[in-house]
Amino acid sequence: MSEPQACIPPDIPIVVLSGPTASGKTTIVNRLMQETPVKLIKAISATTRPRRKGEVDGKDYYFLTTEEFEKRQENNEFLECEQVHGLGYWYGTLKSEVDRAAKQGGWPFLEIDVQGTLKLKKQFPQTITLFVRTSSDEEYEKRIRNRGTESEEVIEKRLATIRKELEQAQYYSHVIINDDLERAVTEIGTILKQRELEINAG
Ligand code: 5GP
Repeated sequence: MSEPQACIPPDIPIVVLSGPTASGKTTIVNRLMQETPVKLIKAISATTRPRRKGEVDGKDYYFLTTEEFEKRQENNEFLECEQVHGLGYWYGTLKSEVDRAAKQGGWPFLEIDVQGTLKLKKQFPQTITLFVRTSSDEEYEKRIRNRGTESEEVIEKRLATIRKELEQAQYYSHVIINDDLERAVTEIGTILKQRELEINAG
């Protein structure tokens, strides 16, 4: 795949939020979308993984077949894409989603994995990178098993990914401990507001 063109101006930051599965990311994302002090527009990722119960196509993800995903890859429609979890499922950020956010005058807000974040940060140095985690590592296994939706094989693969991802928190500019949701949401809001003030100050 050839390098995608930068499609947003350098004064519009891309906001990336990552963290191991079961870190409470989705709840944080939803809260931020409602009450953040800056205008965030969620970029909806594409994926080939099967839809979970309650997920809506075009809202949670664009659920694509592998064939559709690979066709879009060939057309260079992704800013970044990865096979996450070693399960063989593709995930990717569509350029059109990031463009849409910028056109609407907002900051594109992405919930993506560590590898994708590192790729984006290279292309768009203005990216704000947020890593969310719980303070204890054991909490993850408990949360995943409590979900009760996945096979033992999948759980083991997810736990291996979590361990790897926790090590990579060091590459992020901000690590947010989500033991207390209110505190985590406020902390991220403050980080974003601060960046907005810096941008406005030129
Ligand atoms: P889940 O299957 O639990 O929805 O997501 C699994 C992982 O894929 C999460 O770590 C999530 O952040 C990541 N992910 C979701 N969308 C994208 C994307 O567009 N690009 C990349 N690189 N990772 C993504």
